[in-house]
Amino acid sequence: MPIRQLPDLLVNQIAAGEVIERPASVVKELVENALDANATTIEIELEAGGAKLIRVRDDGDGIEAEELPLALARHATSKIAALEDLDRIATLGFRGEALPSIASVSRLTLTSRRRGAPHAHAITAEDGRLGASKPAAHPEGTTVAVHDLFFNVPARRKFLRAERTELSHIEEHVRALALARPGIVFRLSHGGRAVFALAGDGRDATRIDALLGDEFGAQSLAIEAAGAGLALRGRVGLPTASRGQADRQYFFVNGRAVRDRLVAHAVRQAYADVLFHGRHAAFVLQLTIDPSAVDVNAHPAKHEVRFRDSRLVHDFIFRTLHEALAQTRAGASAPVAALASPAASYAYASPMQARFGLPVREAASMDAYAALYGNGAATAATAGVGGASAPTWAPVGAEAPPTGNAAFPNDAEPPPLGFAIAQLHGIFVLAENAQGLVLVDMHAAHERITYERLKQAQACGEVPSQTLLVPIPLRVAEREADACDEQAARFAALGFELARSGPTSILVRRIPSALEGVDVERLVRDVLADLVAHGSDARLVEYENELLATMACHASVRANRRLTLPEMNALLRQMEETERSGQCNHGRPTWVQLTKAELDRMFLRGR
Ligand code: ADP
Ligand code: MG
Repeated sequence: MPIRQLPDLLVNQIAAGEVIERPASVVKELVENALDANATTIEIELEAGGAKLIRVRDDGDGIEAEELPLALARHATSKIAALEDLDRIATLGFRGEALPSIASVSRLTLTSRRRGAPHAHAITAEDGRLGASKPAAHPEGTTVAVHDLFFNVPARRKFLRAERTELSHIEEHVRALALARPGIVFRLSHGGRAVFALAGDGRDATRIDALLGDEFGAQSLAIEAAGAGLALRGRVGLPTASRGQADRQYFFVNGRAVRDRLVAHAVRQAYADVLFHGRHAAFVLQLTIDPSAVDVNAHPAKHEVRFRDSRLVHDFIFRTLHEALAQTRAGASAPVAALASPAASYAYASPMQARFGLPVREAASMDAYAALYGNGAATAATAGVGGASAPTWAPVGAEAPPTGNAAFPNDAEPPPLGFAIAQLHGIFVLAENAQGLVLVDMHAAHERITYERLKQAQACGEVPSQTLLVPIPLRVAEREADACDEQAARFAALGFELARSGPTSILVRRIPSALEGVDVERLVRDVLADLVAHGSDARLVEYENELLATMACHASVRANRRLTLPEMNALLRQMEETERSGQCNHGRPTWVQLTKAELDRMFLRGR
């Protein structure tokens, strides 16, 4: 075939292949144009999932009558004029590609009236031919009507999904655009029926409640941080309100919805400790950054960006969220409502147990806990609330109420989780606080506290350990014995001492006190196998936390261990002072609140 210049229509259709994937992409481009034109109200009407009709109407600046053909011409834009402009893009569009692309694969009518102009004009495009511009009736602003999308591109039309599916893609795009711009009124309808209508009071909270439900509002933390030329605001879901899908993750860079691996990684890292694998955090986050520090010209559909200083952005997001999540102490943030069955879909099996195949330790290990904290170096650093609760299980009279039951001391402010009144089925601690009844999952709460303490102790190189009276000999693979030599320091930091005693044998001499009584041989074997499998340093850091989590699990109070009231109160006080203690290591709640009002309702009181 000879080389030839392609006709304009074909060029536009090729561009449309990149930018216009489905009806939702048309909606996104048209709404972005309306936002760029300073609209305050945007109305979207759809027929047949957008395949038959997409009509977007705005009350923005409008287009001059003589510029209407230009708006539909390729590479024609009012948003940039020179290369330097690319470095500081403040609009959502800038490529001058969307309208000609859409026009090349549909029957499009563009009607517009410039602000202050006496009349509106309309122009129609079909199969690459532009009709003449004609006077039309239209208030100030612009309407773009797109009929029969892909009527001339059968390959694309074949790929359109069911109406319902296309509609849900459209809703998703509009939801994202609307979350970014809470000051704009949005109306979306399908087949004449309203899908949503959003008032634009300009408040993030109103918009988030309207689009994600007030449940998300209640089960999330507000984020507001600034520094190093960056600002981050929005809401992040509590770990206990995590989701099975990554379907509630909205991230905006200067008002543009983006999908970014770096951002996703920073968020995942921040939740690493409080979310079970396979669960996803929900969030709506708006990053504001100097436009010259971000390149938005990374993808034709503009949903990817490149940060000039990606490390800075990553660390800023990670640090902000990490600090916010550290505040999820039991009693400090919104509790999980006892009646809402929030944990319906949690996977309850401990991944640690699965991973190590560890036998569940029968006996309670209060003693191990005491060994860890009773008189160790950690004690001073973690003195309890008001200095009253020493971080041990030893009964501490001062913090318990005078009687173990209902009465609060008159003078003192009652603690957030209140005072223990009983233990139920050897699993739950019941406590009375100012709001009503508190239920605590004893093991989950203790495990989290122990884990946080172990992490602290390990960070200062002080994991309490004990020398075995009789070292345990293990036969291992040569590579495992090598790993044992190479990682000696790391093992030591975790409280282990493993000595090589031959090419394929090692001796376990010292173990963390918290692991006294567990099947050490299996644990060490699994750790070594794992070290060999992924020996990279980065993996090991993540892995260390997992190992600490295993240790915590095994060192924590087991079901059916009878606790005294002072022990229960000590647990409650420790929950209140331990970072992230509102959920266990897998993001399940450690406590729930049953309020007095809920109890009244249960008994139909006051009716
Ligand atoms: P881009 O948005 O990248 O500039 P488009 O093809 O989407 O390219 O639009 C081309 C031009 O048409 C825009 O630059 C703008 O001047 C004008 N335009 C498009 N839609 C609207 C609208 N809703 N209101 C006002 N002007 C619009
Ligand atoms: Mg555009």
